[in-house]
Amino acid sequence: MSRKGIGLRVLVGIVVGILLGLLLLKVAPVGAQPGDKFTVVTDTSEAITAVIPEGIKPAKLKIGDDEVGDARQWSGIPITALPAAITEATGIQVRSVELKERKGVTVRPAVTEVIYVGGEIFLRLLRMLVVPLIIATVLVGIASLGNVRQLGRLGAMTATIYIATMLVAAGVGVAYVDTIKPGMPLREAWSSEATDIAIADQTPSELILRVIPTNPVEAIVKLDIIGILFFTILLAFAILSLGKRRSAPVFNFFEALNDLMFVLIGWVMALAPFGVGLLIAHTIGTQDVDFLSTLLKGLGLFALTVTLALVTHFIILLLIVTFIGKYNPIEFVRKLGPAMAVAFGTNSSTATLPVTMRCVEDMGVSKRIRNFVVPVGATLNMDGTALFEAVTVIFFAQAFGFDLSFSQQLLVAILSVVAAMGAAGIPSAGLVTMVIVLSAVGLPATKIATIFAIDRPLDMMRTIVNITGDAMTSRVVQTKFPEIRPEDDDAASEYEVVEPASSHGD
Ligand code: ASP
Repeated sequence: MSRKGIGLRVLVGIVVGILLGLLLLKVAPVGAQPGDKFTVVTDTSEAITAVIPEGIKPAKLKIGDDEVGDARQWSGIPITALPAAITEATGIQVRSVELKERKGVTVRPAVTEVIYVGGEIFLRLLRMLVVPLIIATVLVGIASLGNVRQLGRLGAMTATIYIATMLVAAGVGVAYVDTIKPGMPLREAWSSEATDIAIADQTPSELILRVIPTNPVEAIVKLDIIGILFFTILLAFAILSLGKRRSAPVFNFFEALNDLMFVLIGWVMALAPFGVGLLIAHTIGTQDVDFLSTLLKGLGLFALTVTLALVTHFIILLLIVTFIGKYNPIEFVRKLGPAMAVAFGTNSSTATLPVTMRCVEDMGVSKRIRNFVVPVGATLNMDGTALFEAVTVIFFAQAFGFDLSFSQQLLVAILSVVAAMGAAGIPSAGLVTMVIVLSAVGLPATKIATIFAIDRPLDMMRTIVNITGDAMTSRVVQTKFPEIRPEDDDAASEYEVVEPASSHGD
């Protein structure tokens, strides 16, 4: 498949995916799910909570603290049919049932299941490539730069752009949330209410220690990308220090692996129009429209704030590409199109990494720059996530009835950058590391689950912004290092094969 045509095909895939998703909503809506929480109104009492237990099948419905009803399979039953089903099973006259909380969709109608499997195959193929791709590209990228001083300058510039743009993103978020104040309408309801959702806490020291894996193989198995990066970068420096002759077998191996990975990426990208379409169809088709519209009534202003701030930051990134990266922004968006589409469909910058790498190469960026800047960025540089963390934390503060001072907001912005760097490039990762920022300003994490329910569309947008930041930085670094020319890539990476007799190094 021609690389030029892929952008258009993915676009068609997105449109078809959206239509298919809307059709699914009509013809095959998902029913109740394991883990769903409902408010049940009966003839005798108002608003009791009912839960469909997870894991045990078939399970009795939990209403309040009691398990009631027969042991039927509760998940999958259409929510509109639940009142009658509960009445039949328990004898309690149920007037209405309303979905309050949903952890995810695992029980689907048959047709949706087929779409799910199709999308998941594409996602798994992408994720399958990530670990070998990161190791091979980062190692070859650093080792073939050869010149340690140049490498230092390149690394310093990349880190500076990454941190500066994430701080700008958090700042944009703060400006929007302070202006729109989406938390204010919820202040009365939220400041008195607390739910008991606990979310894994991560302290700053845990985040720092996470960088160093105690066992690189374990890091690979657990897909601990930060740990893998740390080990690979050290190994690349070791190759540089040992010299080209002694390390040639290892270098050449990874260079061949690198080339092979790009052959595989080409094959997987040919599936992108279908894969992205199916992922989007599944995301849309498995929504519960009533639930979503109730949520949006309360959180619509918040979603709007996040959206406006993300769009603003996206424009800022394009301005940087234009004026500092000296690259046509329309061309930039066109070339990055396939990666943006995959980010939109997968909600994961890590899964998108193989596609981002290909797109950045098309922008005239040297492989030696791309191989270093993009994988590191996919893991650590998350402008969209930093922005989202800042907006959400200040939104929580507004809704919980706290007015944060300027210095507290500054702290939120800085910690949002730290939390974004700590977030993995996977769906909704930003919500998990948000606890760091929340605890620093003394806010409870009780409402994170509420945001989680509407996170999918917001995550789609911030993942696009995340990968755009990586591509923008590659382009800017290329402009600042004109001496690293794409044309010289092949010559620069030639390592000699070691002769057994001369293994004492250079
Ligand atoms: N899904 C985002 C990414 O992969 C991370 C996040 O903000 O949740 O880039």
